[in-house]
Amino acid sequence: MDFELTEEHRIFQKFIRDFAETEIAPLVEEAEETNTFPRQLFKKMGDMGFLCPRYPEELGGGGADKITEIIMAEELNRINAGIAASLMVQGGLSTQPIYRFGSEEQKERILNPAIRGDKIGAFALTEPNSGSDAASIKTRAVRDGDQYVLNGTKIFITNGPICDYAVVAAYTDPSRRGEGISLFIVEKGSPGFSCSRKLDKVGNRSIETGELVFEDCRVSADKLIGGREGGGFSMIADTLTSGRITYGGRCTGTAQAAYELTVQYAKDRVQFGKPIIKFQATRFKLAEMAMNIDIMRSYTYRVAWMYDQGKQVQKEASMVKLFTAETLQKILADSMQIHGGYGYMMEYPIQRFWRDGRLFTITEGTSEIQRLVIARELGL
Ligand SMILES: Cc1cc2nc3c(=O)[nH]c(=O)nc-3n(C[C@H](O)[C@H](O)[C@H](O)COP(=O)(O)OP(=O)(O)OC[C@H]3O[C@@H](n4cnc5c(N)ncnc54)[C@H](O)[C@@H]3O)c2cc1C
Repeated sequence: MDFELTEEHRIFQKFIRDFAETEIAPLVEEAEETNTFPRQLFKKMGDMGFLCPRYPEELGGGGADKITEIIMAEELNRINAGIAASLMVQGGLSTQPIYRFGSEEQKERILNPAIRGDKIGAFALTEPNSGSDAASIKTRAVRDGDQYVLNGTKIFITNGPICDYAVVAAYTDPSRRGEGISLFIVEKGSPGFSCSRKLDKVGNRSIETGELVFEDCRVSADKLIGGREGGGFSMIADTLTSGRITYGGRCTGTAQAAYELTVQYAKDRVQFGKPIIKFQATRFKLAEMAMNIDIMRSYTYRVAWMYDQGKQVQKEASMVKLFTAETLQKILADSMQIHGGYGYMMEYPIQRFWRDGRLFTITEGTSEIQRLVIARELGL
């Protein structure tokens, strides 16, 4: 067994940390304040090949493995969770179904520009009345000659207000629950497709999140992904598994940032004549945080390694997401506690990580849904 990162991973880790600190950190304040994503980052990351790190270099990707993507998630989240989330949808749900199942024309028109950062993608599954129970979506796509007509509403869509295209889940055959769902590429400017509103969120304010509406929205039949109707869920299954492992990196990066801020604050804050880091109560909390971060990181790397080996990791991917997202909540709560009253003030950055990190037990499968997956995979 070898638990070390390779030389290549270490070089990348240093590179992406420097990039996040010098190129992303200065943009955070304005993005958070104005609830606007700094779009230039798509192109910047695309030019470097790291917008979609796991796609082949010939397509403009990084040709890297899952561990590299985890390192990137960790470093970007250490700086800002919202910016990280917007960028990472691009390497996952909004491109992977096209990469795996798309036609040559779809790849040429959508995928390749998306990998280079010339087109921004979104993935639209969730609806106002359908979240965890994704098979209950109501959006319909009805064939009409050489077109499909889409009707429905999608909510909470990351990058929805700024996307050039969305991969949209819609029923082509509602009599086949789950199985009758197909995926379509709907481009900005398609008649009947609009972003009806930008949503105002508690955290992750640098992500632009929206509600997408499809009103008799006509798309040509060649926008169907996979060349045949149905099977939409199977097309996103691998991407969901991969995304859950990535959450391990996202949670670890957020936890690392909270830890670093809290250690610094505890060194600076003086009460009863000494820095509060000298109190055993503070040191014990920090020691436990450091231990949990190490476990989060090493378990995530292990499952990413298993994924890279082509092993079936549905259960482990859910375990990563459940464990890291839940452990993060305790780390954030302790960080806030050590910050005392100042932590509750907007001028101290810890509150942002607390608000941002709260999301991680909810998106891409809540903690309860991860428990259901794990129990099912264990045959319970
Ligand atoms: C900021 C943000 C960004 C998002 N981005 C996207 C995106 O880009 N694309 C997209 O399609 N979606 C996106 N989502 C949607 C997200 O994936 C859903 O919010 C999530 O799947 C949960 O669905 P829900 O919010 O409808 O909660 P619900 O499904 O209504 O769940 C509410 C509560 O009930 C619990 N629950 C539900 N069913 C069960 C059960 N069977 N057993 C036990 N407990 C259960 C849940 O765990 C939860 O605690 C985003 C959401 C947010 C908040």
